[in-house]
Parts: sequence; C-alpha cells; structure tokens
Amino acid sequence: MTQRTLVLLKPDAVRRGLTGEIIGRIERKAGWRITALELRTLDQETLEQHYGEHKGKPFYEPLVEFMASGPVVAMIVEGERVIEGLRALAGPTDPIAAAPGSIRGDYGVIVRENLIHASDSEESAEREVKIFFPGHA
Ligand code: GDP
Ligand code: MG
Repeated sequence: MTQRTLVLLKPDAVRRGLTGEIIGRIERKAGWRITALELRTLDQETLEQHYGEHKGKPFYEPLVEFMASGPVVAMIVEGERVIEGLRALAGPTDPIAAAPGSIRGDYGVIVRENLIHASDSEESAEREVKIFFPGHA
C-alpha cells in the first residue's frame, strides 16, 4: 500500500543539528522516498491550520509559540505503509514513554519539544500535504 505522509522536523531538531540524522533514518528505510523538502519558518496561520484540532487545549498556545520559534524542515515522504511506519519511527508523543530506537525515544525528553511531526492517518496526511505543499496536492 503506497502512501504519502507529511513530516515536520520541529525547531528543536533544527536547532540541535539533528535533521541530517533523522532524514538519514527515513532515507534508509527500504523503498521510502522524500518527494518534497523545505526549510521554512512557520507563520501563525499555517500553524493554526495544521494544529487546529488542538485549539483550546492547555498545550496549544505554547505549542504554536514553540513551532514558530525557528525554522522547521517540512517533507513529503512516500512509500509502503509510510503513515504507520513514520509514526512508529517517531515513537509516542511523550519522549520518555517512547522506546529507545525511535526518534523521540533516542533524542527527546520533554513532551512539547519532541523533534518530529508525522501525519496520523490518510485523511490527516492529505490535509497536511495541502497546507505545506499546495503544489503537490
Ligand atoms: P503527536 O501526533 O504525537 O505529535 O501528538 P498530538 O497530535 O497529540 O500533539 C501535537 C503536539 O503537541 C505534540 O507532538 C507535542 O509537541 C504537543 N503536545 C501534545 N500533548 C501535549 C501535552 O500534554 N503537553 C505538552 N506540553 N505538549 C503536548
Ligand atoms: Mg498529532
């Protein structure tokens, strides 16, 4: 089942110089391909669209502030079961609960600064690809 997913390497990953490491892990997964990639600082409108489902939650405002605090690397990744696969590679939201070997498990400590976003379903992936890469919609 070939799919595509939207991945963001969050500002903490860029600041800490971990983007090459994380992109390398994605590239080494057999058959997955990066088909769009851009370093970009996100504006409020983009973040509001992207994280709209969390609006009103206590972590929303600090999350948006963090996500706008520096550039992110936005990517489309395509390949076999890549939506489920990238969620597994990222690990659960809380990096302390994430298994060693996962990106969040290996590099993260605090919940907000958990290095990576990956779409959680086919519907989310299509919605998020449109937000970040309208030319690929
Ligand atoms: P994800 O799909 O695993 O990224 O998690 P969610 O969609 O639930 O949340 C989006 C992002 O908000 C997470 O990746 C975290 O950066 C942040 N976040 C989620 N839950 C919490 C929380 O309880 N506290 C804090 N501080 N941040 C959170
Ligand atoms: Mg999510």
